[in-house]
Amino acid sequence: MKKEMKEEYLLPRCKFCGKQMIADTVLQSDKEAEEYAVMHCDCELARDYQEQVKKEREKEENKKKIRDAVSDFAQYCEKKLYVFDPDAEALLIAAGETVLNGKIENIAVNVFGVKITISLSAKGKLKFKRSYKESAVVEVM
Ligand SMILES: [Zn+2]
Repeated sequence: MKKEMKEEYLLPRCKFCGKQMIADTVLQSDKEAEEYAVMHCDCELARDYQEQVKKEREKEENKKKIRDAVSDFAQYCEKKLYVFDPDAEALLIAAGETVLNGKIENIAVNVFGVKITISLSAKGKLKFKRSYKESAVVEVM
C-alpha cells in the first residue's frame, strides 16, 4: 500500500506541457521524475530541452577526447624525454576546443617534430591526428 503511494507520488509529469507518463525505470526523487518526464515527452519545449542536453553531453565527451588526446601526447613526450610545456598543452586544448566550436576548420601544430592536426570529420567528430617524422639523420665524419 505504502509502495503504491510512493510510485504515484513519483509519476513523472512534463514541466513544460504537464503531460503525465509512466516511467519504465525506478525514480528516486521528484527531481529524477521531472528529468525523466522532460527527457521522454514529445512536446516542442521538451524536444528542445532534449536536444540541448544531447549537445551538452556531446560537447563534454568531445572535451574529454581533447584532454585524452593531449594527455596521450604528453605521455609520448615523457617517453621521449621532451619537456612538454604547460603553455603548449594549454594551446593544444584551446585549439581543440576552438575547432570543436566551429570557429576554425582545422589547425596544425608542430611540436618536437610531431605534426598534430586537429580537425572535425564530416560527421562532426573531432579528429586529433599525430604524424611523426622520425627520419634519423646520422652524420658521419
Ligand atoms: Zn511536454
